[in-house]
Amino acid sequence: MTTKINFNGEIHDHLKISILDHGFLFGDSVYEVVCTIDSAPYFLDPHLDRLFASAEAIALKIPQNKEWFREQLNITLGAAGNDDSYIRIIVTRGEGEINIDPSTCLHPNIIIIVMEISQYPESFYEKGISVALVSIKRNSRDALNPNVKTGNYLNNVLAKMEANKSGAQDAVMVNPWGYLTEGTTSNLFFVRDDQICTPSLDCGLLSGITRKKVIQLAKENDFAFAEGKWTGDELNDADEIFLTGTLKKIMPVTCLDGRPVGSGKPGPLTLKLMRLYGDLLKSAE
Ligand code: PMP
Repeated sequence: MTTKINFNGEIHDHLKISILDHGFLFGDSVYEVVCTIDSAPYFLDPHLDRLFASAEAIALKIPQNKEWFREQLNITLGAAGNDDSYIRIIVTRGEGEINIDPSTCLHPNIIIIVMEISQYPESFYEKGISVALVSIKRNSRDALNPNVKTGNYLNNVLAKMEANKSGAQDAVMVNPWGYLTEGTTSNLFFVRDDQICTPSLDCGLLSGITRKKVIQLAKENDFAFAEGKWTGDELNDADEIFLTGTLKKIMPVTCLDGRPVGSGKPGPLTLKLMRLYGDLLKSAE
């Protein structure tokens, strides 16, 4: 297991950052998670685009351009030398005074963590996982927009804790108006009457890169597909449920609130999309 950490362009084996960094004090930061296949990061461009968009949304001016990130990422991947890596790119507001005002933070810190990837167990994909529809609401878009990927994940942490307490592996959240949004680190899809459904962005969720690819695959393959608003209760009528994310890829959900989803096994449309997404990743290498 080799971990390398790039801090503002310098490679470290271990890194200590200032306790006065507002990323640490207030979650005032943005980040991306990228993975590699055969040592090459996949879908890097959309991840960098989203990093810059998230930074802009919180008025954090990143002092480097995307080319710099690509170069530094290659250097860090080379230094780590893993077969495949998990990459976390973080840009913090930087060090400032110990109060919430970001105007004293003059130098954002850029951290690129590269570590050996630890995939989810195969059994999760073969049997599916369990989720709970939790009482914690996803942040509303006019409070902390879930479509901005900040380092402030306490909303999701609390949802995950509630799910785990009820014996489920992960959580699905509704927004303050009761409409389905997403998982704690993944987007939500479900199948009802042979139609693949996913909550629309205006429900308040992250526009996931995997989500976009899955929507594209559904459309290209002429699957019935809809983006829209559904209440939490409507998830009980789903024949299939799956979550999507960069690390998770497409993960079937076979248990909702302690009850089986559909047949209790990964459903046929989920399996088809898992195969198609697997092929897409191979071609993205
Ligand atoms: N929603 C949330 C809250 C997430 O943290 C993630 C993981 N980045 C996703 C959705 C999935 O996004 P992506 O497919 O871009 O990894």
